Amino acid sequence: MEILYANTRDTSEKVTASQAILNGLAKDGGLYVPVVIPSLDIPVEELAKMSYQETAYAVMSRFFTDFTEEELKTCIERAYDSKFDTPEIAPLVYADGAYYLELFHGPTIAFKDMALSILPHLLITSARKNHVKNDIVILTATSGDTGKAALAGFANVEGTKIIVFYPKNGVSPIQEKQMVTQKGDNTFVVGITGNFDQAQTGVKKMFSDPELKAELDAAGYQFSSANSINIGRLVPQIVYYVYAYAKMYANGEIGKDDPINVVVPTGNFGNILAAFYAKNMGLPIAKLICASNENKVLYDFFSTGVYDRNREFILTSSPSMDILISSNLERLIYRIAGEDAEKNAELMRELSTDGKYTITSEMREKLDAFYGNYTTEAETAEVIRSLYENTGYVIDTHTAVAAGVYKKYTAETGDRTKTVIASTASPFKFTRSVMDAIDDKYDAMSDFALADELSGIANVKIPRAIEEIRSAQVLHNTVCAPEEMPQTVKSFLHIH
Ligand SMILES: *Cc1c(COP(=O)(O)O)cnc(C)c1O
Repeated sequence: MEILYANTRDTSEKVTASQAILNGLAKDGGLYVPVVIPSLDIPVEELAKMSYQETAYAVMSRFFTDFTEEELKTCIERAYDSKFDTPEIAPLVYADGAYYLELFHGPTIAFKDMALSILPHLLITSARKNHVKNDIVILTATSGDTGKAALAGFANVEGTKIIVFYPKNGVSPIQEKQMVTQKGDNTFVVGITGNFDQAQTGVKKMFSDPELKAELDAAGYQFSSANSINIGRLVPQIVYYVYAYAKMYANGEIGKDDPINVVVPTGNFGNILAAFYAKNMGLPIAKLICASNENKVLYDFFSTGVYDRNREFILTSSPSMDILISSNLERLIYRIAGEDAEKNAELMRELSTDGKYTITSEMREKLDAFYGNYTTEAETAEVIRSLYENTGYVIDTHTAVAAGVYKKYTAETGDRTKTVIASTASPFKFTRSVMDAIDDKYDAMSDFALADELSGIANVKIPRAIEEIRSAQVLHNTVCAPEEMPQTVKSFLHIH
């Protein structure tokens, strides 16, 4: 069965999977959603024997129906290889009443790698399938993490170039070092003398500049983005929920058809939406537990039916969840609105004009599989400390938000269903916050000294991503003003 993709804001538009991947976002700002969610018609006994790559093929082939078997298998092989530091790709670790699904074994030690390691291959395959002759130039503005994960994903992928802009004085020293040491002839990293918003505005301007587009086309290039709302990032995230479920069955943790719960530390709502799609494919997930930090827009939404971004933006120790507009939520809104593109478009217009919208009680009823809650900064730190003291297992701040919310959930409901917690970053990525949570005696140590200390107390080897930046050479040193961004792009591409 061919699966087409509908635009959440325009009923008349339906495209193939490869077109949806290539376009990223629809022209009117809508997102692409599968017209139907395919069912995972594979018995768990069989899933239990599959490797990560085989599971990936089983899931993705049901969504990306215009890819040939060979195309998809090639994408999967190139993505989930020795860039990951374990052949399991996403190991499951039991600690203190929950199963932690470690999604941080890729090149940048955070879960964005799960999708960004395959997106470049999906994108370039989609371009070829749709007879795009140009090379694809990825433009990204980053406040830190996504830039590095995109660079690592696209490095040395034939037919692509990637250009990342970051605020020169607006990212952490480690984040900057991770980016400017990036290898690969097709990678370009630029610090701009401005803030993140200026970087983002500059990138958006280039995307919509017809003259620049024509100049690029004449030179054999076209722009694309690795944006988190690309369906080519969402579908690969379904895979690890299926994989985790099958592993729990294989290890005798659950019996046939036993349900599990899933807890996801949430920002843009991509990761938890992937779990929702897994549930809709037929995976027996009971509750989808949405965990927020102090930027608790989603908690408020699940408890009141009102999405309201009009509030103070709080900087927390889980920065990848410091988000007030969760873009992927639109896909869920569209669905609970009965796949009514007009209704969805209206709510999204309200969001952009008033910063808020209210869903109907009918729509709210369709959210019964979701549970939302949040943790304060103090609670997050306490979760890290107590889990370490009770079990020796060390988790990062984002994962700790999820673990804290899971505690609140079980206290409230008494639900003892076996539960998987999505562990979205290595503690080595947020070493200072993690070590401060464990003991304030670590305050005075340097970042690298802290990594050594963490390695000792957690009995975990320092990840390659951290070892590398200690000694890596700086390979990128371009700095420009925001208004010079187009010229910088042209000079990288040798367009004069
Ligand atoms: C991006 C990110 C999240 C949030 O994931 P969403 O899909 O945006 O909800 C959580 N934790 C970490 C470490 C992340 O990088």
